[in-house]
Amino acid sequence: MAELEGLEFGKSDFVLLDEVTMEQFMENLKLRFEKGRIYTYIGEVVVSVNPYRQMDIYGKDNIEAYRGRELYENPPHLYAVSDAAYKAMKRRAKDTCIVISGESGAGKTEASKYIMQYIAAITNPSQRAEVESVKNVLLKSNCVLEAFGNAKTNRNDNSSRFGKYMDINFNFNGDPTGGHINNYLLEKSQWCSDEMLQSFHLQNDPAVYVYTKEGAETVTSNNDRSSHKAVLSALEVIGFSKEEITSVYQILATILLLGNMQFESDGESVNIVGQEVVNRISELTATDPESVNKSLLYRTVATGGGEVIEKGHTEQDACFGRDAFAKALYERLFGWIVSRINSIIEVKDYDPVLHGKNTVIGVLDIYGFEIFDNNSFEQFCINYCNEKLQQLFIELILRQEQDEYQREGITWQHIEYFNNQIIVDLVEQAHKGIISILDEACLTVGKVTDTVCLDSMDTKLAQHPHYTSRKLSPTDKSMDFQKHFRIRHYAGDVTYSVEGFLDKNKDLLFQDFKRLMYNSANPVLKEMWPDGHLSITEVTKRPLTAATLFKNSIVALVDKLACKEPYYVRCIKPNEMKSPVLFDDARCQHQVAYLGLLENVRVRRAGFAYRQLYARFLQRYKMTCEYTWPNHLMASDREAVEAIVIQHGFQDDVAYGQTKLFVRTPRSLFTLEQERNHL
Ligand code: ATP
Ligand code: MG
Repeated sequence: MAELEGLEFGKSDFVLLDEVTMEQFMENLKLRFEKGRIYTYIGEVVVSVNPYRQMDIYGKDNIEAYRGRELYENPPHLYAVSDAAYKAMKRRAKDTCIVISGESGAGKTEASKYIMQYIAAITNPSQRAEVESVKNVLLKSNCVLEAFGNAKTNRNDNSSRFGKYMDINFNFNGDPTGGHINNYLLEKSQWCSDEMLQSFHLQNDPAVYVYTKEGAETVTSNNDRSSHKAVLSALEVIGFSKEEITSVYQILATILLLGNMQFESDGESVNIVGQEVVNRISELTATDPESVNKSLLYRTVATGGGEVIEKGHTEQDACFGRDAFAKALYERLFGWIVSRINSIIEVKDYDPVLHGKNTVIGVLDIYGFEIFDNNSFEQFCINYCNEKLQQLFIELILRQEQDEYQREGITWQHIEYFNNQIIVDLVEQAHKGIISILDEACLTVGKVTDTVCLDSMDTKLAQHPHYTSRKLSPTDKSMDFQKHFRIRHYAGDVTYSVEGFLDKNKDLLFQDFKRLMYNSANPVLKEMWPDGHLSITEVTKRPLTAATLFKNSIVALVDKLACKEPYYVRCIKPNEMKSPVLFDDARCQHQVAYLGLLENVRVRRAGFAYRQLYARFLQRYKMTCEYTWPNHLMASDREAVEAIVIQHGFQDDVAYGQTKLFVRTPRSLFTLEQERNHL
């Protein structure tokens, strides 16, 4: 609970709204944004609005102001929750996590950087060299992941195309000893950022490369050289070897060459235009040119009779194979970089007897709920992920409340809330869920189209209260028979187009490419393609589909988060223009709805909206009661607080805990605040 700041800045905690309505919520959010108050609490949750300008609130002085303090002692800030998470970890040996969510451009990655910086600043006061080096590597890993995983999109100049979860490990001193990163890479289409281009010297003009051409006109790269240097030095600091760094660059070069590769057909066979490109790729990947050529133009298939034949590609197949190859190269490179960083920052030689319990703070920077005019497979995955996180959120917040009530000896009050398990099941349930139906369609031999898959969903999910489609609601003209289905998410209805679902769900890479890479003489490259040793006849077991892999990684993530004490940062993007002064009401209101913030306030207020340590409460309000001013003569602070409550006549609105007063409705508090201000 934040300190009640002057009301001209709005309410610093949404639980203090007179009524929990969208109007009041938005009014407060807007007022605070306009007053330059970008952070507001909902209990311990930080709601953040992207200021789109440099704020003078992250300096050394600010860090000092928040260090070791309680949440309510300062205005709302990321530093306050970071400190709360850190204190819980250090004092109570609790594993904690900070979950940051919000839509693209809302400020998640910036927030995660401030949190990391804060933690780095308050740890290792004695400047021990080995801890400093761990901190340095953790911070540098951010820079590398951003260089490889971010891209300029129309929503954000520096958009993370992957979700990131980073565990930071601490020893009993509360100093970082290492960490671990998990990435949830989703979007493969935007994967060549200008940074990547710059870090690779062959060509400086992004427009030259087909894969990065889109959006290239708007890419302004005035600091090419410095960003290239920063990535290079970050890789070195983290501990990548010279050979590894060279390999990284060789793979990037290969990807870009593939992007420019063209095919020509003479009606009979398909060929690569210009043999030079094949030679370059074979040099870069340490493979022989003939194999490169072959894997791009032919495909090995096993016939029904167990025979293995080589089938020439059509021009279209060749293009398709080339693109899938380039994407897979990038994906594996990124995955490999993450796993290399992990092996370097992993805590080694940690002896719990000697060093005490190893505790963790996890920071999750992950895409929020997405709803566009056209929603596809990516949005389906993202929104499923957000359903899972929402479920965890409700569960954990309720548990936290319950724990506190128990600690304080207060009777538990049942809280009504919407349990979204039913939507989670709709997506992930074995055999019956959408992912299962999709996977089944992908496994079916023969021609299964997206529309056939939609039919299958319609049949199997007809009864589900959160699923509908044009066939199931024929009057709904906003949907198309062949294309659309709709899920009623906790945050609202989203209509998805099944177009491309099956292709995006399948592993479309020909085994020939995997084998080509596995046979590379470069050990780094070989290491990235362990599945390339299989010959075509051995590839019987279907690889897991994209949706199932994603589901598994999200389930594992939720398991990781579930055993930690959670802190939340909910980011809101105020407008589409990256403007520091514009508060687009409609856009903001959407986000508030999708982030489930009203529900959040309700849950938080369902029991007691406000709670405060007796001594703190007294300190603030003792002047409003004759028995407590200037000092009380009662046996305990608690009794003195009782005197104040009784004097103002809201004894029915409170409960007395072991150390804290609990107030049900904020109105009582405002009576006190007003009185206090009038004195
Ligand atoms: P995506 O999902 O696309 O990765 P994101 O939520 O991570 O988006 P950020 O990259 O963190 O968004 O923020 C987008 C831009 O907004 C930043 O590049 C920066 O210009 C601005 N911004 C965000 N937060 C702040 C802040 N606290 N202070 C100043 N500027 C900010
Ligand atoms: Mg980001």
